[in-house]
Amino acid sequence: MNVNTIVVLDIIGVGAFMYALWLSITIGTGILDRVSNVLLSCSIGVYVFVGVSNVLEHGNISSYLDRYEDYAEVLFVPFFLYFMYSMHARYELDRRRRAEQSLERSKERYKNILEDLPDLICRYKPDTTITFINQAYARYFGRPEGELIGTSFLDLIPQESHAYVREKIAALNKNNPFITMEHGVITPDGQSRWQVWSDRALFDNTGTLTEIQSIGRDITEQKIAGEAQENSRRFLQTIMDGVSEPIMVVGNDYRIRMMNKAALEFSGSTDKAEFCYEVSHGLKDVCDHTHICCPLDIVRKSGKQEINTHYHRRSDGAKRLIEIIASPFWGPDGTFQGIIQLQRDITDHKKMENELIKIQKLESLGVLAGGLAHDFNNLLTAILGNINLARIMAGPDRKTADVLADAETAAIRAKDLTYQLLTFSKGGKPVLSLTGLCNVIKETSQLTLSGSNIDSKFIVPDDLWPVEADTGQMGQVIHNIVLNAREAMPEGGLVTISAENRIVGKNNALSLNQGRYIMISFADRGRGIPDEVLPNIFDPYFTTKEMGPQKGMGLGLSICYSIVKNHHGLISVTSREGVGTTVYIWLPASPIRDLGEKEIPGPMKEARDAIPVEGAVFREEPATYNGRRILVMDDEKILRDVLMQMLHKLDFQVDTAVTGEEALALYRSAMQTSDTYDAVILDLTVKGGMGGAETFRQLRALDPDVKAIISSGYSKDPILEQFRTHGFSGILLKPYNMNDLARMLEAVLSEHKG
Ligand code: ADP
Repeated sequence: MNVNTIVVLDIIGVGAFMYALWLSITIGTGILDRVSNVLLSCSIGVYVFVGVSNVLEHGNISSYLDRYEDYAEVLFVPFFLYFMYSMHARYELDRRRRAEQSLERSKERYKNILEDLPDLICRYKPDTTITFINQAYARYFGRPEGELIGTSFLDLIPQESHAYVREKIAALNKNNPFITMEHGVITPDGQSRWQVWSDRALFDNTGTLTEIQSIGRDITEQKIAGEAQENSRRFLQTIMDGVSEPIMVVGNDYRIRMMNKAALEFSGSTDKAEFCYEVSHGLKDVCDHTHICCPLDIVRKSGKQEINTHYHRRSDGAKRLIEIIASPFWGPDGTFQGIIQLQRDITDHKKMENELIKIQKLESLGVLAGGLAHDFNNLLTAILGNINLARIMAGPDRKTADVLADAETAAIRAKDLTYQLLTFSKGGKPVLSLTGLCNVIKETSQLTLSGSNIDSKFIVPDDLWPVEADTGQMGQVIHNIVLNAREAMPEGGLVTISAENRIVGKNNALSLNQGRYIMISFADRGRGIPDEVLPNIFDPYFTTKEMGPQKGMGLGLSICYSIVKNHHGLISVTSREGVGTTVYIWLPASPIRDLGEKEIPGPMKEARDAIPVEGAVFREEPATYNGRRILVMDDEKILRDVLMQMLHKLDFQVDTAVTGEEALALYRSAMQTSDTYDAVILDLTVKGGMGGAETFRQLRALDPDVKAIISSGYSKDPILEQFRTHGFSGILLKPYNMNDLARMLEAVLSEHKG
């Protein structure tokens, strides 16, 4: 075969080359004139053309093939390859067309979605030039897409927001590709509205910010609603701040929703405080409910308003007792949302309440003590009187006299006890007089410590302000306190007694009224008072000492408390076990600063002075009352009997009456016989009958010159305190002995004689 030139044309360059190589090896041409893929597009035509023209030239395809039968495969292979290739190309073409169609469809879909979205969508360049908007955007601003694209969206925003928007865009970078912005816009009809935008930055391959894709919404209504909500919140806050008591709104999760000014001030926290347990208890976690009854938990369970009390921490760290009125609040769906709690600091109120209870306790004890003292003094009078009589009867028998003297001393000590009881009794109000307490402090303390191995040190200024006080009662206070100090130091020691002038300001820790006070302190170095005992020491009948008149009765400090309280003062105690105890007394100073020489003894002093201190021995003296008549009225037989005997010893003629009525009848009949009584001794209180005061009033109506001595075991009665004002000639405070009786009758009858 003569083949000069075979032009191998294929759409794939490498394919053409390989095929030419194969030809040159098979048919030995060795010549490759041209291998090119530049004529790629022509190759198919050339094959077809060459094939067709050859077929035409040879008449039919078989002769053509015959001619080229040796080379049929040469033609077949490219045709086959071409066929394969064209099939592949067709497939590729189809695939690409389908992909393009699908892309088109999905583009359409997304476009529709974008167009249908109520949200505003746009894309803009970093310099704010709009590159794309959706229909909603165009509609919102009432301008066609064509008008807006290519312009800056800042043209749609009020000038004052430009800096804010630019600043936000400038903050976009690869690490921070998202921002949200809220700003105002001006709509085509000139309305001011608010929008919120979420922007996402788009970067190219080099990381340069190319565009920003933005989705926005109109929030004008929300903004208006939010502002209305904020306004009503502010209004509510103003109302809450106007309330002087702390208010907190606490959510179901213990989070504080609102707090008023008073609550912030009370807790000392900031309005940043998050949880109720932080603010109220200084805790980092929810309270341990075994120790604190949480109002939120209680109300959550009950679903109604609850009142409870517990301790809260105040800004100065102090624990205060708080009463909480907690009311539930509900969500629109009726679910429990939390509580509104109103807090009241009741620490001082509670303290006052306790004080009141203490006072009431003392008062009821006083009523009891008064009654007891009265009966006890009656008995003591009988005992003392009989001992006196027995001593007289015993004559010169020394031994009997000594035994009776001891009995009398014991009875007189018992009288001290009833005097203590009387301090509690009803009407135990101090009889005030202007007095300087310097001497009372020193004398009473020294007297109480006499005979002990305890030293005393006084630091009492001469210019100590005078006070309005019952000196007798104050003496008793000092005596009781110093006696306790003495008993706390059985081995001896030192009691330092100081007094000073003090000015007390408003809101003082002692809850004293503002003003001038004197403060007296008694410091011992005794065994001290254990912490668990300290709260009880002012309770009546509380003692750590052995019970009994010589030991502890537990009345000493309760008497002091009662007396100091009645003087509008304060008594307090500090103590450390094993170190010592200090008792403080605060008494209001008198507005009169200069005491001068004046000291007004109160009637109590007079009454107390009437009580014999020593076991007085009646000295039998020549009777001077022979033939003189005395009427005794007392409902106690034992007393009538002893009094009658004592009076007989004094040579009186005695009649006795049990009641006032009986006494009146006796007096009346005596008057009729002109054998009147020289004096009457009337008991103040008569059980179930007319008492001494009324009897005296009626006796006076019969005989204005009647000489009456009032007698009672109840020294706090105002009639006794001012017996002369009530017309009585004398007073006999039970228990009394024969000396007292003789002295009193002598005084009354000499007056009568005179
Ligand atoms: P009493 O002295 O009869 O026990 P008080 O009312 O005077 O009653 O005192 C009550 C208690 O207070 C005493 O029993 C004692 O425990 C305690 N107390 C009072 N003063 C002192 C003190 N100075 N030192 C130690 N304990 C004291």
